[in-house]
Amino acid sequence: MLNINKLEKRFDDIEVLKGLDLVVKEGDVTVLIGPSGSGKTTFLRCINALEEPNAGTVEIDSLEVNYNRSYKQSDVRLLRQKTGMVFQTYNLFPHKTALQNVMEGPVQVQKRNKAEVEREAKSLLEKVGLGDKLDAYPFQLSGGQQQRVGIARALAMKPKLMLFDEPTSALDPELVGEVLKVMKDLANEGMTMVVVTHEMRFAKEVANTVVFMDGGHIVEQGPPEQIFEMPREERTRRFLQLIS
Ligand code: ADP
Repeated sequence: MLNINKLEKRFDDIEVLKGLDLVVKEGDVTVLIGPSGSGKTTFLRCINALEEPNAGTVEIDSLEVNYNRSYKQSDVRLLRQKTGMVFQTYNLFPHKTALQNVMEGPVQVQKRNKAEVEREAKSLLEKVGLGDKLDAYPFQLSGGQQQRVGIARALAMKPKLMLFDEPTSALDPELVGEVLKVMKDLANEGMTMVVVTHEMRFAKEVANTVVFMDGGHIVEQGPPEQIFEMPREERTRRFLQLIS
């Protein structure tokens, strides 16, 4: 589903991603962990071209963009359409209801039939446990509820791959669980996901693969049991000690 080869990203002179390779199979959940500043968010944003990589290739669902040579902006747009992104802050339209927020993309961007989109949007909001909040405005919703609208909004575009950038880190602790549950349900339904998170329990329970990043490199990756119980690299061991 996702195939990344020698991905590099610089900001001015600073090399932030130093040649990353990653393969994610359909239905897999990959969790990116690592110290602050190691490049996790940049990596995620390079996958769907929110940041433009300087080199390497990104292939999603058989569409490849090769940043080593000139590439078509139309391919970048197609690549982006294959992904749904959930951000740390929810960025909902404040003057639109939950239902209108979820319908916005499919109607305005994809130009799809409004009645059909409305049916789907309602069922997505039900799926994330907000069937009774269709007409609520963001200010009437808790952070956890807003983030669940954010997830429904991303799903409404029918992405092949969902990217989550620290989706629970802005939430009060008691609201984290409801968002993680929605993500877990999504994983159980077979959605392919790449998740940057500090929630190690989620990583242990839901991830097929845990990727440990440090200093713009993937230091090691493997199933959660291996990374958490038997890390091969000293840097991984040190990081896990610091956070436990
Ligand atoms: P992480 O998500 O692991 O905390 P980031 O991807 O946010 O790491 O950041 C990696 C490095 O890239 C940091 O040193 C950060 O300061 C730098 N960086 C991220 N975004 C930008 C930007 N837009 N301009 C300049 N430097 C940036």
